[in-house]
Amino acid sequence: MSEQGLLIVLSGPSGVGKGTVRKALFDQEDNQFEYSISMTTRDKRVGEVDGVDYFFRTREEFEKLIEEGRMLEYAEYVGNYYGTPLDYVEETRNSGKDVFLEIEVQGAMKVKEKVPDGVFIFLTPPDFSELKSRIINRGTDDLSVINERMTVAKAEIEMMRHYDYAVVNDQVDLAVDRIKKIIESEHYRVDHVIDRYENMLEEM
Ligand code: 5GP
Repeated sequence: MSEQGLLIVLSGPSGVGKGTVRKALFDQEDNQFEYSISMTTRDKRVGEVDGVDYFFRTREEFEKLIEEGRMLEYAEYVGNYYGTPLDYVEETRNSGKDVFLEIEVQGAMKVKEKVPDGVFIFLTPPDFSELKSRIINRGTDDLSVINERMTVAKAEIEMMRHYDYAVVNDQVDLAVDRIKKIIESEHYRVDHVIDRYENMLEEM
């Protein structure tokens, strides 16, 4: 019997580079993880593709899925909904594959309540002035959105204590390597493999 796949949650403050690190991880040829594509009500940015970057939906469509209990988690972030569709996560884990979420901190805390055995990784900035310039230089948002993102980022950093691991994003390739090592060792946790060994013992 194969174990259930891990649920890996990468989170961290706004502007820390979660998306960049996640993309670099998934660009690797030996990548073994399944990315859970999020749903959002925000507008598509230039170059983004529905069903690849996000499932872009209306508020009505999103709220219907919430009512039907079909979101693992969702959060309202800077005026839009973002969330993780439940079915894909369950099906993928049940098939023995690891599912990878890249989400903001409110959503990550909701996942932790529902799936306490998930692997919660907090991506941290090497220093705060860099975080500020990343938020400003993103260039896709107006000043009020930038200010709101900064306020949110400060509160978000406080959330680190609730995570299992903190990974510094000083260099994208280093952050990716650190995350891969964490996940590799999570596979050796007794909690993760105990069912298989118990089955073997029964058969002995
Ligand atoms: P952006 O609008 O820049 O693509 O994303 C804004 C924030 O939403 C990022 O911090 C990103 O990690 C987060 N996010 C993306 N997908 C989800 C999701 O499914 N759930 C939650 N809670 N946050 C998400």
